[in-house]
Amino acid sequence: MILTNFQNRLRIGTLKRYNESMSFIQKLLLAVLPGASAKSMEAESREWIYTCPCGHTCSVWDLGGVRWKAAGTPGRVMKCPRCGKITWQTLSRTPISADSLA
Ligand SMILES: [Zn+2]
Repeated sequence: MILTNFQNRLRIGTLKRYNESMSFIQKLLLAVLPGASAKSMEAESREWIYTCPCGHTCSVWDLGGVRWKAAGTPGRVMKCPRCGKITWQTLSRTPISADSLA
């Protein structure tokens, strides 16, 4: 009984965190960094895209992550929201062109 209550509370906590649009680390960095740095951090995180073998793509930022002033690391294993499989998703940087920002 006690264990069940504890598990329920854990589940509620997890759901709450998933419902928030930004992760703790993103909020923390946005709060701490000066404006220009915060913008470049978010922009760069959005440029890094994970691609599943099924074709689904998702940016690091959308996943609640931050990738800034970094290079390398070609991917990670995670569950794809589209095909539902646990796959190796390759990470690549897709620069947002100046045209789309204008
Ligand atoms: Zn997939």
